[in-house]
Amino acid sequence: MFFPRAQRNIASRQLRGLFARYPNAKLKWFTAGRGYTSAPPQNGYTQIEKLLLDNIKAAGPITFASYMQMCLSHPTHGYYMNPANPIFGTQGDFVTSPEISQVFGELLGVWLLSQWMQAGQDQRIRLVELGPGRGTLMEDILRTFSRFSSCAQSIQSVHLIETSKPLCSLQENRLKPVAERLGADIHWHEGLDLMPAQNDAFTMVVAHEFFDALPFHVLQNTADGWKEVLIASSPDHSAAAETPSSPTPSSNAPRFQTFLSPTPLSRILSISSPRFTSLPSGTTLEVSPVAWSISRQIAQLVGSSGCALIVDYGADHFFGKSFRVRLHLSSATWLTQAFKAHTVVDPFLLPGECDLTANVDFAYLREAAQDLAAPLGPITQAEFLLGMGLEQRVDVLARAAGEDGERIREAAGRLVDMAGMGGEYKVFGMVGREREMSAEGVWPFVRV
Ligand code: SAH
Repeated sequence: MFFPRAQRNIASRQLRGLFARYPNAKLKWFTAGRGYTSAPPQNGYTQIEKLLLDNIKAAGPITFASYMQMCLSHPTHGYYMNPANPIFGTQGDFVTSPEISQVFGELLGVWLLSQWMQAGQDQRIRLVELGPGRGTLMEDILRTFSRFSSCAQSIQSVHLIETSKPLCSLQENRLKPVAERLGADIHWHEGLDLMPAQNDAFTMVVAHEFFDALPFHVLQNTADGWKEVLIASSPDHSAAAETPSSPTPSSNAPRFQTFLSPTPLSRILSISSPRFTSLPSGTTLEVSPVAWSISRQIAQLVGSSGCALIVDYGADHFFGKSFRVRLHLSSATWLTQAFKAHTVVDPFLLPGECDLTANVDFAYLREAAQDLAAPLGPITQAEFLLGMGLEQRVDVLARAAGEDGERIREAAGRLVDMAGMGGEYKVFGMVGREREMSAEGVWPFVRV
């Protein structure tokens, strides 16, 4: 049975309170001559901010990749690692598509299933998810698979790629019983490269809002060639490391500043895509070698037999200034409006206590994968979900839900709203290179 999940009206009191303290924080983007600056909290430093400033003091300026890595994945204080952060628990601030409507996971599941069927249904299934968060998407996919007995019996194993220990235990509580009911093994790995590569199974890989959380570098093309944007402490705050017990800053001045410097990576990354080599002077480029490498690993896993779906916000081109603090507070209207009005949020705001994101350059993922697997898309989330029959599925759920029906329609409507999630999120697919490919076979993708 499918049970409609009540749409969660999640408004993080904790973050709401936090932002109430910075009503005038301004969103500032760097340009060639002006760096990112931050408008810090009135009182004290965050743990990560302190570590970053110490680090900079000891070893010099850091890259955006190091900044992001430290803020999100520091073993104890990183945003995803610290159970005190509001992404955890029912009052969390994390509102992603799978959390909004079960239809999202169901339709992704149906696409994966259709690929396995076309491949002949004779292989066992190995299901992999990168960055499963609370495990909602995987739970919805497994429930969908369990409706088709031939598929349910064929699931050999489930692999979850997760670096956050608190999230691993959350996922374990939720998904282990489901996997066990289906007779499938379930495993956790810290990286995709730690998964057994060789396997005779049909490998399905999903990644939702995973690539946007990966570390990236920021480069700028200057009259003297490509340089990297590095982060240093601002003069007022470089002494933070010397005052460990009471690091209260004397002013609201920015804590970090950015500047350009030639680095070994600025040379290498600026030629890592043919698209980058002819960019004019002044261009700023966010580029993630980690994303490139993971896309290639996915292609390796599915290239001989399998399929993959990568869903994220981004587009089929590079971005230069997309790095931002990510706010999943869609139900906090005041904040959404503030965001649209560009009054929020400093990208260096509260390091380690806010989620960070950069748009995904899907063309880069495709370039990394295309000699190993056949790439599909990207297409918009709305195209994908509507093409997979969202309206029909929602009708069934809404009718069965009686009074809750309207809420279900509304939630699903958000996923395909072209002015919001439906247009901002893209779906990129991969299938095995050897597969006979027809337009119907890879529907709703139009092959690029
Ligand atoms: N897919 C979920 C959660 C997205 S948040 C959803 O859409 O709701 C990003 C997830 O990726 C978190 O689970 C985080 O812990 C994990 N993560 C971030 N960086 C990672 C990395 N380098 N390797 C593995 N997991 C990572």
